[in-house]
Amino acid sequence: MSDLLANLNTQQHQAVTLPPMHGLILAGAGSGKTRVLTTRIAWLISTGQVRPHGVLAVTFTNKAAKEMTARLAALVPINVRGMWIGTFHGLCNRLLRAHYREAGLPQTFQILDSADQLAMVKRLLKNLNVDDEKYPPRELCHFINAHKEQGVRAAQAEAYDNYTQKRVELYAEYENQCNREGVVDFAELLLRCYELLQRNEPLRTHYQQRFRHILVDEFQDTNRLQYAWLQLLAGGGAKILAVGDDDQSIYRFRGAEVGNMREFERDYCQTSAGPNVIRLEQNYRSHGNILAAANAIIKNNRERLGKNLWTDAGDGEPIRAFEAYSDIDEARFVIDEIRELIRDGVVPTQVAILYRSNAQSRVLEHELFTKGIPYKVYGGLRFFERQEIKHALAYLRLLGNPDDDTAFLRVVNFPTRGIGARSLENLQAAAHQTNSSLYNAAASLSGKAGQAVGAFIRLVETLRQETQNLPLPEMVEHIIEKSGLAQHYRTEKEGQERLENLDELINAAATFVDDEGVIGGTAGEGGALVSFLTHASLESGEHQAGEGQEAVQLMSVHAAKGLEFDVVFITGLEQGLFPHENAVSEGKEGLEEERRLMYVAITRARRRLYVSCAQTRMLHGQTRYCVPSGFLDEIPEGLLRKLNKKAESVPAYTAYGGGYGARPAAEPAVGGLRVGQSVEHAKFGLGVIVASEGRGADARVQVNFGGAGMKWLALEYAKLTPV
Ligand code: ATP
Ligand code: MG
Repeated sequence: MSDLLANLNTQQHQAVTLPPMHGLILAGAGSGKTRVLTTRIAWLISTGQVRPHGVLAVTFTNKAAKEMTARLAALVPINVRGMWIGTFHGLCNRLLRAHYREAGLPQTFQILDSADQLAMVKRLLKNLNVDDEKYPPRELCHFINAHKEQGVRAAQAEAYDNYTQKRVELYAEYENQCNREGVVDFAELLLRCYELLQRNEPLRTHYQQRFRHILVDEFQDTNRLQYAWLQLLAGGGAKILAVGDDDQSIYRFRGAEVGNMREFERDYCQTSAGPNVIRLEQNYRSHGNILAAANAIIKNNRERLGKNLWTDAGDGEPIRAFEAYSDIDEARFVIDEIRELIRDGVVPTQVAILYRSNAQSRVLEHELFTKGIPYKVYGGLRFFERQEIKHALAYLRLLGNPDDDTAFLRVVNFPTRGIGARSLENLQAAAHQTNSSLYNAAASLSGKAGQAVGAFIRLVETLRQETQNLPLPEMVEHIIEKSGLAQHYRTEKEGQERLENLDELINAAATFVDDEGVIGGTAGEGGALVSFLTHASLESGEHQAGEGQEAVQLMSVHAAKGLEFDVVFITGLEQGLFPHENAVSEGKEGLEEERRLMYVAITRARRRLYVSCAQTRMLHGQTRYCVPSGFLDEIPEGLLRKLNKKAESVPAYTAYGGGYGARPAAEPAVGGLRVGQSVEHAKFGLGVIVASEGRGADARVQVNFGGAGMKWLALEYAKLTPV
């Protein structure tokens, strides 16, 4: 016992051993909030105050939940596997799976990720002949999700004008469609679960009595509905310990409300001796310079509850800053540094590359791949969002639930089976009329289209029979082969990578651990398929490097919340990218949220921090000229070491305090060409070389082709003629 409490400071000790009462821990990054939360669970269990069964712990990402479970297992000798530790979505999913009937869902209900949801909304608009310019699908998704996150169903939604009235009607149509197909979107997981508990008294009482202690990490990022869900579960006398940092609230766009913290303090934490709020002020994670940079940045925000963070770890190294010519140059710099770090003995899993936007990962991934460094991408839905993966999953989903129209439409004509858009429209109309799924309505189609769809249905039935008793990975492999997907990509020009991804899906199935703890899923059980598909929608592509393999960690700043690494690279620090232009256009509030995001990014680093930006970047297929992020200016000069190796005297951006970094000097000739030289290209016409790098087969130049834009070209292939 004393072991458990040995490594805690006074405030942490107080928080861990709090008598059974509600409490709020309000503290900055790296001050041990998560450690306190985990240790408290261990302490409650080992002092016999609660059984593992009676604990509910919520955190924000799957990775964080895994880490919490692992830490707990190391602290107390209990079986943590069955414990209710997870994300809001994961826990709600678990509850709905256990009570699907009461929740009005089919046993095999599938989860729509945001891309599926968008597809569904588009389809709906088309079926109902609604102008999608007037009612943009994306906006409608947002409208629906925002309502759900407030706990508001279409039937209760208010509309003060005709336009909103129409959107509410579409929301209702969308609800019907989801119910008919037996699918739920992310927001629905929560709302459905909340309503189930609210409506069903025996069930509610059961869980209220079961959970005696509810612990919530990253409380600052809960939205209204999540907070209401917690309150409902705590209604039977459970004690809530909420842990959070207002400076790390980064999900405002998804309806998170920092106000929940104030409300919780007011409604739950008042005692006769004053509010039961504990503050932790010592940072145990980062060296002094890193912490100083974080503090310097966040103090520019106005909307804060206010906290002080200090460390006794010493200043440590300066923050390394690098300005690259291009995004590719930035990636090379980062990966070269990482190679050196690894050579010097740094463990790859202790190195994280962070970016503001998921699209940035591709260039970095490519560079890592080329240099043969194993890496893992977290967050987003990268791997499972790839086209070929979604196709394969759609076949699997249809096997589990033929009424899944989204899955049906995705693959009914993929690979092509001569089923035209017209036939599908007829089919959809027929399904709409008889209020049945597309699968069931298929018989109503006549003629050639009827035959083609009929053949598809038979294919699905055959696949179902053939895979009935196969273990999960073999099932996946079988489907990929027999559906025609593999053959399709074999003949496609750029199909190789897609085939590799499909192989990776089989790997994912093979390493997948189902609820029973069986790797590869329990053979002959539909249950393994369902949980695998759930895993595919809830989790992201975490399989680039094999499980357990040492790999460099790539993730968006959002996904890095709560985590820590010895070495952190924050890339793409450019105006418009980080801070993101969408947020900036929202004005002060948007910028403050971006700044909190920057604070989160910096405070992930323990010992070494790199910040980098590029002068040009390919975004959405176009080269953009970039200006370094204003956040770089908010880091005091004295904390920085500028690393531009080829730096020379021409300041790059005089607007930024005398220039951050510097432009490269005139490059020596590459393949007989040099910067400043005019060249001609067969397709892009005349241009001027503006940058060059690499040698021999690796030589590349960046050319400004005027109207045709800026391009990086590999000299070996580009065939440039000097003019
Ligand atoms: P974040 O706000 O980023 O989520 P946090 O407040 O949850 O951070 P933790 O992740 O719990 O912080 O702790 C940060 C690091 O400091 C961890 O490595 C943790 O083990 C360590 N740490 C926390 N408290 C102590 C302590 N009293 N002594 C030594 N190390 C500590
Ligand atoms: Mg934490």
